Amino acid sequence: MSIMPNIIHWFRRDLRLADNPAFTAASQVSQGAVVPLFILDDNVLQSSRTSAARVVFMLESLRALDASLRAHGSRLIIRHGSPEQCIAQVIDETDAVGVYWNRDYSPFARQRDTIIEKMLRGRGVDVHTHKDAVIWEIDEILTKNNTPYTVYTPYARQWRARVEANPVLLAEAVLPGLQPVPDTLSSSAIPLAAELGFATQQLLPSGGEQVGLEQLNTFVHAQNAPGIHGYAEQRNFPAKPGTSRLSPYLRFGCIAPQTCLRAAHKAGFQQHGSETWVGELAWRDFYYQILYHFPHVLQRSFKSDYDKIEWDNNEVFFAAWCEGRTGYPIVDAAMRQLTAEAWMHNRARMIVASFLTKDLLIDWRWGERYFMQQLVDGDHASNNGGWQWAAGTGTDAQPYFRIFNPISQSEKFDLQGDYIRHYVPELQHVSASYIHTPWNMSQELQRQVGIHIGRDYPMPIVDHAMQRQRALELYKRARAE
Ligand SMILES: Cc1cc2nc3c(=O)[nH]c(=O)nc-3n(C[C@H](O)[C@H](O)[C@H](O)COP(=O)(O)OP(=O)(O)OC[C@H]3O[C@@H](n4cnc5c(N)ncnc54)[C@H](O)[C@@H]3O)c2cc1C
Repeated sequence: MSIMPNIIHWFRRDLRLADNPAFTAASQVSQGAVVPLFILDDNVLQSSRTSAARVVFMLESLRALDASLRAHGSRLIIRHGSPEQCIAQVIDETDAVGVYWNRDYSPFARQRDTIIEKMLRGRGVDVHTHKDAVIWEIDEILTKNNTPYTVYTPYARQWRARVEANPVLLAEAVLPGLQPVPDTLSSSAIPLAAELGFATQQLLPSGGEQVGLEQLNTFVHAQNAPGIHGYAEQRNFPAKPGTSRLSPYLRFGCIAPQTCLRAAHKAGFQQHGSETWVGELAWRDFYYQILYHFPHVLQRSFKSDYDKIEWDNNEVFFAAWCEGRTGYPIVDAAMRQLTAEAWMHNRARMIVASFLTKDLLIDWRWGERYFMQQLVDGDHASNNGGWQWAAGTGTDAQPYFRIFNPISQSEKFDLQGDYIRHYVPELQHVSASYIHTPWNMSQELQRQVGIHIGRDYPMPIVDHAMQRQRALELYKRARAE
Protein backbone atom coordinates (compact mmCIF):
# COMPACT_ATOMS: atom_id res chain seq x y z
CA MET A 1 0.00 0.00 0.00
CA SER A 2 1.44 3.42 -0.90
CA ILE A 3 1.40 6.51 1.26
CA MET A 4 0.52 9.11 -1.34
CA PRO A 5 -2.73 8.58 -3.28
CA ASN A 6 -2.21 6.96 -6.64
CA ILE A 7 -4.14 7.61 -9.84
CA ILE A 8 -4.78 5.23 -12.71
CA HIS A 9 -4.53 6.33 -16.31
CA TRP A 10 -6.44 3.89 -18.47
CA PHE A 11 -4.82 3.79 -21.94
CA ARG A 12 -7.22 2.77 -24.69
CA ARG A 13 -6.76 4.36 -28.10
CA ASP A 14 -4.21 6.94 -26.97
CA LEU A 15 -1.02 4.88 -27.05
CA ARG A 16 1.46 7.69 -26.52
CA LEU A 17 2.88 9.98 -23.84
CA ALA A 18 3.28 13.24 -25.78
CA ASP A 19 0.31 15.53 -26.04
CA ASN A 20 -1.92 13.13 -24.12
CA PRO A 21 -4.48 15.27 -22.25
CA ALA A 22 -5.74 12.70 -19.72
CA PHE A 23 -2.33 11.24 -18.99
CA THR A 24 -0.79 14.69 -18.58
CA ALA A 25 -3.63 15.80 -16.31
CA ALA A 26 -3.31 12.66 -14.18
CA SER A 27 0.44 13.20 -13.88
CA GLN A 28 -0.03 16.84 -12.90
CA VAL A 29 -2.52 16.19 -10.11
CA SER A 30 -1.25 12.89 -8.75
CA GLN A 31 0.57 13.11 -5.46
CA GLY A 32 1.52 9.46 -5.72
CA ALA A 33 2.16 7.40 -8.81
CA VAL A 34 0.22 7.46 -12.04
CA VAL A 35 -0.47 3.82 -12.82
CA PRO A 36 -0.44 3.43 -16.63
CA LEU A 37 -2.91 0.64 -17.32
CA PHE A 38 -3.84 -1.11 -20.55
CA ILE A 39 -6.45 -3.86 -20.66
CA LEU A 40 -6.52 -6.55 -23.31
CA ASP A 41 -10.27 -6.81 -23.61
CA ASP A 42 -11.64 -10.10 -24.98
CA ASN A 43 -14.78 -8.33 -26.17
CA VAL A 44 -12.58 -6.47 -28.64
CA LEU A 45 -10.08 -9.24 -29.36
CA GLN A 46 -12.76 -11.81 -30.07
CA SER A 47 -15.01 -9.56 -32.14
CA SER A 48 -15.59 -10.83 -35.68
CA ARG A 49 -14.61 -7.35 -36.89
CA THR A 50 -11.13 -7.32 -35.34
CA SER A 51 -8.23 -7.54 -37.82
CA ALA A 52 -4.97 -9.38 -37.21
CA ALA A 53 -3.18 -6.33 -38.62
CA ARG A 54 -4.65 -4.03 -35.97
CA VAL A 55 -3.76 -6.46 -33.19
CA VAL A 56 -0.15 -6.69 -34.39
CA PHE A 57 0.09 -2.90 -34.75
CA MET A 58 -1.49 -2.34 -31.33
CA LEU A 59 0.84 -4.79 -29.55
CA GLU A 60 3.85 -3.15 -31.14
CA SER A 61 2.54 0.25 -30.06
CA LEU A 62 2.10 -1.08 -26.52
CA ARG A 63 5.71 -2.27 -26.49
CA ALA A 64 6.83 1.17 -27.61
CA LEU A 65 4.65 2.82 -24.96
CA ASP A 66 6.09 0.59 -22.23
CA ALA A 67 9.63 1.50 -23.38
CA SER A 68 8.79 5.24 -23.25
CA LEU A 69 7.29 4.86 -19.79
CA ARG A 70 10.36 2.97 -18.59
CA ALA A 71 12.56 5.77 -19.94
CA HIS A 72 10.52 8.04 -17.61
CA GLY A 73 10.99 5.69 -14.64
CA SER A 74 7.54 4.13 -14.90
CA ARG A 75 6.15 1.05 -16.71
CA LEU A 76 2.98 -0.13 -18.42
CA ILE A 77 0.70 -2.41 -16.42
CA ILE A 78 -1.05 -4.90 -18.70
CA ARG A 79 -4.07 -6.86 -17.60
CA HIS A 80 -6.13 -9.28 -19.66
CA GLY A 81 -9.86 -9.62 -19.02
CA SER A 82 -12.97 -7.51 -18.65
CA PRO A 83 -12.15 -3.80 -18.14
CA GLU A 84 -14.60 -3.56 -15.26
CA GLN A 85 -12.93 -6.36 -13.29
CA CYS A 86 -9.37 -5.40 -14.19
CA ILE A 87 -9.85 -1.77 -13.15
CA ALA A 88 -11.51 -2.81 -9.89
CA GLN A 89 -8.56 -5.14 -9.16
CA VAL A 90 -5.93 -2.51 -9.88
CA ILE A 91 -7.78 -0.05 -7.63
CA ASP A 92 -7.72 -2.63 -4.84
CA GLU A 93 -4.04 -3.27 -5.40
CA THR A 94 -2.98 0.40 -5.56
CA ASP A 95 -5.58 2.22 -3.44
CA ALA A 96 -6.04 4.53 -6.41
CA VAL A 97 -8.31 7.48 -5.74
CA GLY A 98 -8.98 8.41 -9.33
CA VAL A 99 -9.13 7.00 -12.85
CA TYR A 100 -8.36 9.12 -15.91
CA TRP A 101 -9.02 8.33 -19.55
CA ASN A 102 -9.47 9.96 -22.93
CA ARG A 103 -12.96 9.73 -24.36
CA ASP A 104 -14.04 7.41 -27.16
CA TYR A 105 -17.21 7.79 -29.19
CA SER A 106 -18.29 4.44 -30.61
CA PRO A 107 -21.51 3.00 -29.14
CA PHE A 108 -19.58 0.02 -27.73
CA ALA A 109 -16.98 2.22 -26.04
CA ARG A 110 -19.59 4.58 -24.63
CA GLN A 111 -21.61 1.77 -23.15
CA ARG A 112 -18.50 0.22 -21.59
CA ASP A 113 -17.34 3.55 -20.19
CA THR A 114 -20.73 4.35 -18.68
CA ILE A 115 -20.73 1.04 -16.81
CA ILE A 116 -17.21 1.58 -15.54
CA GLU A 117 -17.82 5.15 -14.52
CA LYS A 118 -20.85 4.06 -12.51
CA MET A 119 -18.85 1.30 -10.83
CA LEU A 120 -16.04 3.73 -9.94
CA ARG A 121 -18.31 6.45 -8.62
CA GLY A 122 -20.10 3.81 -6.58
CA ARG A 123 -16.76 3.00 -4.96
CA GLY A 124 -16.02 6.67 -4.32
CA VAL A 125 -13.26 6.78 -6.94
CA ASP A 126 -12.95 9.98 -9.01
CA VAL A 127 -13.37 9.74 -12.76
CA HIS A 128 -11.85 12.30 -15.12
CA THR A 129 -12.29 12.04 -18.86
CA HIS A 130 -10.70 14.22 -21.53
CA LYS A 131 -11.12 15.09 -25.16
CA ASP A 132 -8.32 13.62 -27.22
CA ALA A 133 -9.27 11.53 -30.24
CA VAL A 134 -10.78 14.47 -32.11
CA ILE A 135 -10.05 18.16 -32.62
CA TRP A 136 -13.64 19.23 -31.92
CA GLU A 137 -15.92 17.05 -29.94
CA ILE A 138 -19.40 15.86 -30.82
CA ASP A 139 -21.22 18.78 -29.20
CA GLU A 140 -18.72 21.51 -30.04
CA ILE A 141 -19.75 22.00 -33.67
CA LEU A 142 -23.53 22.27 -33.93
CA THR A 143 -25.96 24.09 -36.22
CA LYS A 144 -27.72 27.28 -35.09
CA ASN A 145 -30.55 25.08 -33.83
CA ASN A 146 -28.15 23.06 -31.70
CA THR A 147 -28.52 20.01 -33.87
CA PRO A 148 -25.67 17.97 -35.32
CA TYR A 149 -24.53 18.71 -38.84
CA THR A 150 -25.26 16.01 -41.38
CA VAL A 151 -23.53 17.72 -44.28
CA TYR A 152 -19.77 18.09 -44.31
CA THR A 153 -19.23 21.51 -45.95
CA PRO A 154 -21.00 23.73 -43.39
CA TYR A 155 -19.63 21.53 -40.60
CA ALA A 156 -16.09 21.97 -41.90
CA ARG A 157 -16.56 25.72 -42.28
CA GLN A 158 -17.34 26.05 -38.57
CA TRP A 159 -14.69 23.49 -37.65
CA ARG A 160 -12.01 25.55 -39.43
CA ALA A 161 -13.20 28.88 -38.10
CA ARG A 162 -12.93 27.54 -34.56
CA VAL A 163 -9.47 26.09 -35.17
CA GLU A 164 -8.23 29.40 -36.55
CA ALA A 165 -9.79 31.36 -33.70
CA ASN A 166 -8.52 29.12 -30.94
CA PRO A 167 -4.77 29.14 -30.55
CA VAL A 168 -5.09 27.44 -27.12
CA LEU A 169 -5.95 24.27 -28.95
CA LEU A 170 -2.52 24.43 -30.47
CA ALA A 171 -0.61 24.52 -27.18
CA GLU A 172 1.15 21.24 -26.44
CA ALA A 173 0.44 19.42 -23.17
CA VAL A 174 3.71 19.18 -21.23
CA LEU A 175 4.30 15.99 -19.28
CA PRO A 176 5.73 16.42 -15.76
CA GLY A 177 8.09 13.86 -14.16
CA LEU A 178 6.58 10.46 -13.34
CA GLN A 179 6.79 8.50 -10.12
CA PRO A 180 7.45 4.76 -10.41
CA VAL A 181 4.47 2.46 -10.00
CA PRO A 182 4.61 0.27 -6.89
CA ASP A 183 7.05 -2.67 -7.37
CA THR A 184 4.46 -5.06 -6.05
CA LEU A 185 2.02 -4.31 -8.85
CA SER A 186 1.99 -7.20 -11.30
CA SER A 187 1.65 -6.93 -15.05
CA SER A 188 1.14 -9.56 -17.75
CA ALA A 189 3.79 -9.59 -20.42
CA ILE A 190 2.76 -7.90 -23.66
CA PRO A 191 1.82 -10.99 -25.68
CA LEU A 192 2.76 -11.88 -29.21
CA ALA A 193 -0.14 -11.65 -31.65
CA ALA A 194 0.07 -15.44 -32.15
CA GLU A 195 -0.51 -15.96 -28.42
CA LEU A 196 -3.82 -14.15 -28.85
CA GLY A 197 -4.70 -16.29 -31.87
CA PHE A 198 -3.78 -13.78 -34.59
CA ALA A 199 -1.37 -14.39 -37.44
CA THR A 200 -0.59 -12.36 -40.52
CA GLN A 201 2.06 -12.21 -43.23
CA GLN A 202 1.05 -8.69 -44.22
CA LEU A 203 3.55 -5.91 -44.76
CA LEU A 204 2.55 -3.66 -41.88
CA PRO A 205 3.77 -0.28 -40.68
CA SER A 206 5.68 -0.34 -37.38
CA GLY A 207 3.55 0.73 -34.45
CA GLY A 208 4.41 3.29 -31.80
CA GLU A 209 4.52 6.96 -30.96
CA GLN A 210 8.06 7.60 -32.18
CA VAL A 211 7.44 6.12 -35.63
CA GLY A 212 4.19 8.08 -35.92
CA LEU A 213 5.93 11.36 -34.99
CA GLU A 214 8.75 10.68 -37.43
CA GLN A 215 6.25 9.95 -40.17
CA LEU A 216 4.40 13.19 -39.48
CA ASN A 217 7.69 15.05 -39.51
CA THR A 218 8.69 13.50 -42.84
CA PHE A 219 5.30 14.35 -44.33
CA VAL A 220 5.38 17.96 -43.19
CA HIS A 221 9.04 18.60 -44.07
CA ALA A 222 9.26 16.31 -47.11
CA GLN A 223 12.20 17.05 -49.39
CA ASN A 224 11.93 14.28 -51.96
CA ALA A 225 8.27 13.28 -51.64
CA PRO A 226 5.20 15.45 -52.32
CA GLY A 227 4.49 15.80 -48.57
CA ILE A 228 2.00 18.26 -47.16
CA HIS A 229 2.73 20.97 -49.73
CA GLY A 230 2.05 18.65 -52.65
CA TYR A 231 -0.88 16.94 -50.94
CA ALA A 232 -3.68 18.75 -52.77
CA GLU A 233 -2.21 17.82 -56.18
CA GLN A 234 -0.94 14.33 -55.41
CA ARG A 235 -3.33 12.77 -52.94
CA ASN A 236 -5.61 11.16 -55.52
CA PHE A 237 -3.01 9.07 -57.30
CA PRO A 238 -2.65 5.70 -55.59
CA ALA A 239 0.71 4.91 -57.20
CA LYS A 240 2.27 8.00 -55.64
CA PRO A 241 3.35 8.49 -52.02
CA GLY A 242 1.06 11.53 -51.91
CA THR A 243 -0.66 11.04 -48.54
CA SER A 244 0.66 10.90 -44.98
CA ARG A 245 -0.13 7.23 -44.23
CA LEU A 246 -0.72 8.31 -40.64
CA SER A 247 -4.12 6.62 -40.37
CA PRO A 248 -3.04 3.64 -38.17
CA TYR A 249 -1.16 6.03 -35.85
CA LEU A 250 -4.24 8.23 -35.54
CA ARG A 251 -6.43 5.16 -35.10
CA PHE A 252 -4.46 4.00 -32.05
CA GLY A 253 -3.55 7.45 -30.81
CA CYS A 254 0.19 6.88 -31.33
CA ILE A 255 -0.10 10.39 -32.58
CA ALA A 256 -2.71 12.97 -31.59
CA PRO A 257 -4.85 14.80 -34.14
CA GLN A 258 -3.85 17.93 -32.21
CA THR A 259 -0.20 17.18 -32.96
CA CYS A 260 -1.05 16.82 -36.65
CA LEU A 261 -2.96 20.07 -36.59
CA ARG A 262 -0.07 21.87 -34.93
CA ALA A 263 2.37 20.51 -37.55
CA ALA A 264 0.04 21.61 -40.36
CA HIS A 265 -0.30 25.02 -38.71
CA LYS A 266 3.48 25.40 -38.70
CA ALA A 267 3.56 24.43 -42.36
CA GLY A 268 1.07 27.28 -42.94
CA PHE A 269 -2.69 26.73 -42.75
CA GLN A 270 -3.19 28.95 -45.77
CA GLN A 271 -0.96 26.83 -47.98
CA HIS A 272 -3.11 24.86 -50.39
CA GLY A 273 -1.77 21.39 -49.46
CA SER A 274 -1.87 22.04 -45.75
CA GLU A 275 -5.39 23.44 -45.96
CA THR A 276 -6.58 20.39 -47.88
CA TRP A 277 -4.89 17.98 -45.48
CA VAL A 278 -6.42 19.68 -42.43
CA GLY A 279 -9.77 19.18 -44.16
CA GLU A 280 -9.22 15.42 -43.85
CA LEU A 281 -8.90 15.79 -40.08
CA ALA A 282 -12.24 17.58 -40.23
CA TRP A 283 -13.74 14.64 -42.15
CA ARG A 284 -12.47 12.39 -39.40
CA ASP A 285 -14.18 14.49 -36.71
CA PHE A 286 -17.30 14.74 -38.86
CA TYR A 287 -17.71 10.96 -38.96
CA TYR A 288 -17.13 10.64 -35.20
CA GLN A 289 -19.93 13.07 -34.50
CA ILE A 290 -22.18 11.27 -36.99
CA LEU A 291 -21.54 7.94 -35.28
CA TYR A 292 -22.13 9.51 -31.88
CA HIS A 293 -25.39 11.23 -32.75
CA PHE A 294 -26.70 8.56 -35.14
CA PRO A 295 -25.38 5.24 -33.81
CA HIS A 296 -27.90 3.35 -35.96
CA VAL A 297 -25.54 3.87 -38.91
CA LEU A 298 -23.54 0.87 -37.74
CA GLN A 299 -26.54 -1.35 -38.50
CA ARG A 300 -28.57 0.56 -41.04
CA SER A 301 -28.38 3.21 -43.73
CA PHE A 302 -28.35 6.78 -42.47
CA LYS A 303 -31.17 7.48 -44.92
CA SER A 304 -33.73 4.84 -44.10
CA ASP A 305 -35.11 4.72 -47.67
CA TYR A 306 -32.02 2.87 -48.70
CA ASP A 307 -32.63 0.06 -46.24
CA LYS A 308 -35.19 -1.10 -48.79
CA ILE A 309 -32.64 -1.75 -51.53
CA GLU A 310 -32.91 -5.34 -52.71
CA TRP A 311 -29.23 -6.20 -53.05
CA ASP A 312 -28.14 -9.15 -55.19
CA ASN A 313 -25.60 -10.25 -52.52
CA ASN A 314 -23.97 -12.78 -54.84
CA GLU A 315 -21.41 -14.66 -52.71
CA VAL A 316 -19.29 -15.72 -55.68
CA PHE A 317 -18.91 -12.09 -56.76
CA PHE A 318 -18.16 -11.08 -53.18
CA ALA A 319 -15.33 -13.64 -52.99
CA ALA A 320 -13.94 -12.39 -56.33
CA TRP A 321 -14.02 -8.81 -55.00
CA CYS A 322 -12.27 -9.78 -51.74
CA GLU A 323 -9.58 -11.70 -53.59
CA GLY A 324 -8.99 -9.12 -56.33
CA ARG A 325 -10.31 -11.27 -59.19
CA THR A 326 -13.07 -9.10 -60.66
CA GLY A 327 -11.36 -8.57 -64.02
CA TYR A 328 -11.33 -4.79 -63.45
CA PRO A 329 -7.62 -4.09 -62.91
CA ILE A 330 -7.96 -1.00 -60.70
CA VAL A 331 -10.40 -2.81 -58.39
CA ASP A 332 -8.21 -5.89 -58.24
CA ALA A 333 -5.04 -3.87 -57.58
CA ALA A 334 -6.75 -2.09 -54.69
CA MET A 335 -8.14 -5.25 -53.12
CA ARG A 336 -4.75 -6.92 -53.41
CA GLN A 337 -3.12 -3.90 -51.78
CA LEU A 338 -5.54 -4.41 -48.89
CA THR A 339 -4.59 -8.09 -48.64
CA ALA A 340 -0.86 -7.38 -48.81
CA GLU A 341 -0.66 -4.29 -46.60
CA ALA A 342 -3.90 -4.12 -44.57
CA TRP A 343 -4.19 -0.59 -45.96
CA MET A 344 -5.59 0.93 -49.12
CA HIS A 345 -5.26 4.34 -50.73
CA ASN A 346 -8.32 6.57 -50.23
CA ARG A 347 -9.11 6.92 -53.95
CA ALA A 348 -8.90 3.14 -54.26
CA ARG A 349 -11.23 2.71 -51.25
CA MET A 350 -13.81 4.88 -52.99
CA ILE A 351 -13.46 2.95 -56.24
CA VAL A 352 -13.80 -0.53 -54.70
CA ALA A 353 -16.66 0.53 -52.43
CA SER A 354 -18.55 1.97 -55.38
CA PHE A 355 -17.81 -1.17 -57.39
CA LEU A 356 -19.08 -3.51 -54.67
CA THR A 357 -22.33 -1.63 -54.20
CA LYS A 358 -23.13 -0.22 -57.64
CA ASP A 359 -21.54 -2.80 -59.95
CA LEU A 360 -21.85 -6.01 -57.96
CA LEU A 361 -25.01 -4.83 -56.16
CA ILE A 362 -23.77 -6.16 -52.84
CA ASP A 363 -24.88 -4.64 -49.55
CA TRP A 364 -22.40 -1.99 -48.35
CA ARG A 365 -22.41 -3.69 -44.92
CA TRP A 366 -20.58 -6.71 -46.40
CA GLY A 367 -17.80 -4.45 -47.63
CA GLU A 368 -17.74 -2.42 -44.43
CA ARG A 369 -17.32 -5.59 -42.34
CA TYR A 370 -14.63 -6.99 -44.65
CA PHE A 371 -12.67 -3.72 -44.44
CA MET A 372 -12.84 -3.82 -40.63
CA GLN A 373 -11.55 -7.41 -40.70
CA GLN A 374 -8.59 -6.36 -42.84
CA LEU A 375 -7.57 -2.75 -42.27
CA VAL A 376 -4.72 -1.75 -39.98
CA ASP A 377 -6.45 1.64 -39.61
CA GLY A 378 -9.97 0.15 -39.39
CA ASP A 379 -12.11 2.62 -37.47
CA HIS A 380 -15.87 2.29 -37.04
CA ALA A 381 -16.63 5.96 -37.63
CA SER A 382 -14.48 6.65 -40.71
CA ASN A 383 -15.08 3.23 -42.23
CA ASN A 384 -18.83 3.44 -41.87
CA GLY A 385 -18.80 7.03 -43.12
CA GLY A 386 -16.70 6.08 -46.14
CA TRP A 387 -18.89 3.11 -47.01
CA GLN A 388 -22.17 4.93 -46.67
CA TRP A 389 -20.76 7.83 -48.70
CA ALA A 390 -19.73 5.51 -51.52
CA ALA A 391 -22.97 3.53 -51.40
CA GLY A 392 -24.97 6.75 -51.51
CA THR A 393 -26.87 5.78 -48.36
CA GLY A 394 -25.16 8.09 -45.88
CA THR A 395 -25.27 11.59 -44.50
CA ASP A 396 -23.21 13.55 -46.93
CA ALA A 397 -23.32 10.91 -49.60
CA GLN A 398 -22.74 11.40 -53.26
CA PRO A 399 -26.15 11.19 -54.99
CA TYR A 400 -27.06 7.60 -55.79
CA PHE A 401 -27.15 8.31 -59.52
CA ARG A 402 -23.48 9.37 -59.58
CA ILE A 403 -21.85 6.02 -60.18
CA PHE A 404 -18.08 5.63 -60.47
CA ASN A 405 -16.97 4.11 -63.76
CA PRO A 406 -14.07 1.80 -62.78
CA ILE A 407 -12.43 2.27 -66.18
CA SER A 408 -12.49 6.05 -66.30
CA GLN A 409 -11.45 6.23 -62.61
CA SER A 410 -8.53 4.00 -63.50
CA GLU A 411 -7.57 6.12 -66.52
CA LYS A 412 -7.85 9.30 -64.51
CA PHE A 413 -5.98 8.29 -61.39
CA ASP A 414 -3.57 5.60 -62.60
CA LEU A 415 -3.01 6.73 -66.16
CA GLN A 416 0.17 4.77 -66.83
CA GLY A 417 -1.08 1.78 -64.82
CA ASP A 418 1.81 1.81 -62.31
CA TYR A 419 -0.46 1.04 -59.35
CA ILE A 420 -2.15 -1.78 -61.25
CA ARG A 421 1.12 -3.38 -62.38
CA HIS A 422 2.52 -3.21 -58.84
CA TYR A 423 -0.31 -5.20 -57.29
CA VAL A 424 -1.46 -7.27 -60.27
CA PRO A 425 1.78 -8.77 -61.59
CA GLU A 426 -0.07 -10.83 -64.22
CA LEU A 427 -0.56 -7.52 -66.05
CA GLN A 428 2.98 -6.24 -65.74
CA HIS A 429 3.77 -6.42 -69.45
CA VAL A 430 0.48 -4.89 -70.57
CA SER A 431 0.94 -1.40 -72.06
CA ALA A 432 -0.75 1.75 -70.73
CA SER A 433 -3.22 1.65 -73.65
CA TYR A 434 -4.71 -1.65 -72.45
CA ILE A 435 -3.89 -1.73 -68.75
CA HIS A 436 -7.35 -0.44 -67.77
CA THR A 437 -9.20 -2.78 -70.15
CA PRO A 438 -6.94 -5.78 -70.79
CA TRP A 439 -9.87 -7.76 -72.24
CA ASN A 440 -9.74 -5.46 -75.29
CA MET A 441 -6.32 -6.81 -76.31
CA SER A 442 -6.40 -8.99 -79.41
CA GLN A 443 -5.40 -12.65 -79.03
CA GLU A 444 -2.19 -11.82 -80.84
CA LEU A 445 -1.35 -8.97 -78.47
CA GLN A 446 -2.15 -11.16 -75.48
CA ARG A 447 0.30 -13.73 -76.82
CA GLN A 448 2.96 -11.06 -77.29
CA VAL A 449 2.66 -9.79 -73.69
CA GLY A 450 2.46 -13.32 -72.31
CA ILE A 451 -1.04 -13.35 -70.88
CA HIS A 452 -4.28 -15.05 -71.77
CA ILE A 453 -7.24 -13.02 -70.48
CA GLY A 454 -9.83 -15.42 -69.12
CA ARG A 455 -7.15 -17.88 -68.01
CA ASP A 456 -4.24 -15.95 -66.43
CA TYR A 457 -6.36 -12.96 -65.46
CA PRO A 458 -10.18 -12.94 -65.36
CA MET A 459 -12.56 -11.42 -67.87
CA PRO A 460 -14.69 -8.74 -66.16
CA ILE A 461 -17.18 -10.57 -63.94
CA VAL A 462 -19.90 -8.04 -64.71
CA ASP A 463 -20.61 -5.51 -67.44
CA HIS A 464 -20.35 -2.02 -65.95
CA ALA A 465 -22.89 -0.35 -68.25
CA MET A 466 -25.49 -3.03 -67.56
CA GLN A 467 -24.92 -3.07 -63.81
CA ARG A 468 -25.04 0.71 -63.66
CA GLN A 469 -28.52 0.59 -65.14
CA ARG A 470 -29.59 -2.08 -62.66
CA ALA A 471 -28.17 -0.07 -59.74
CA LEU A 472 -30.11 3.00 -60.81
CA GLU A 473 -33.32 0.97 -60.94
CA LEU A 474 -32.71 -0.66 -57.54
CA TYR A 475 -32.00 2.64 -55.84
CA LYS A 476 -34.92 4.36 -57.53
CA ARG A 477 -37.29 1.57 -56.53
CA ALA A 478 -36.12 1.71 -52.90
CA ARG A 479 -36.76 5.45 -52.78
CA ALA A 480 -40.19 5.09 -54.35
CA GLU A 481 -41.46 2.42 -51.95
C1 LIG B 1 -14.92 3.00 -48.05
C2 LIG B 1 -13.95 3.76 -47.17
C3 LIG B 1 -13.54 3.21 -45.96
C4 LIG B 1 -12.65 3.90 -45.12
N1 LIG B 1 -12.28 3.33 -43.92
C5 LIG B 1 -11.45 4.01 -43.09
C6 LIG B 1 -11.06 3.46 -41.84
O1 LIG B 1 -11.51 2.38 -41.43
N2 LIG B 1 -10.19 4.17 -41.06
C7 LIG B 1 -9.68 5.39 -41.46
O2 LIG B 1 -8.88 5.98 -40.72
N3 LIG B 1 -10.05 5.94 -42.62
C8 LIG B 1 -10.90 5.30 -43.45
N4 LIG B 1 -11.26 5.85 -44.66
C9 LIG B 1 -10.78 7.21 -44.98
C10 LIG B 1 -9.45 7.28 -45.75
O3 LIG B 1 -9.47 6.41 -46.85
C11 LIG B 1 -8.22 6.96 -44.90
O4 LIG B 1 -8.26 7.69 -43.70
C12 LIG B 1 -6.93 7.35 -45.64
O5 LIG B 1 -6.84 6.63 -46.85
C13 LIG B 1 -5.74 7.05 -44.77
O6 LIG B 1 -4.56 7.34 -45.45
P1 LIG B 1 -3.60 8.51 -44.96
O7 LIG B 1 -3.30 8.35 -43.52
O8 LIG B 1 -2.43 8.54 -45.90
O9 LIG B 1 -4.52 9.78 -45.15
P2 LIG B 1 -4.25 11.33 -45.42
O10 LIG B 1 -4.83 11.63 -46.74
O11 LIG B 1 -2.84 11.71 -45.18
O12 LIG B 1 -5.20 12.03 -44.34
C14 LIG B 1 -4.77 12.31 -43.00
C15 LIG B 1 -5.69 11.67 -42.00
O13 LIG B 1 -6.99 12.20 -42.10
C16 LIG B 1 -7.97 11.18 -41.86
N5 LIG B 1 -8.77 10.99 -43.09
C17 LIG B 1 -8.36 11.11 -44.36
N6 LIG B 1 -9.40 10.92 -45.21
C18 LIG B 1 -10.47 10.67 -44.44
C19 LIG B 1 -11.83 10.40 -44.72
N7 LIG B 1 -12.31 10.36 -45.97
N8 LIG B 1 -12.65 10.14 -43.69
C20 LIG B 1 -12.21 10.18 -42.41
N9 LIG B 1 -10.93 10.45 -42.08
C21 LIG B 1 -10.07 10.70 -43.09
C22 LIG B 1 -7.20 9.92 -41.54
O14 LIG B 1 -7.08 9.81 -40.14
C23 LIG B 1 -5.85 10.18 -42.20
O15 LIG B 1 -4.79 9.46 -41.61
C24 LIG B 1 -12.16 5.18 -45.51
C25 LIG B 1 -12.57 5.72 -46.74
C26 LIG B 1 -13.46 5.01 -47.56
C27 LIG B 1 -13.88 5.62 -48.87
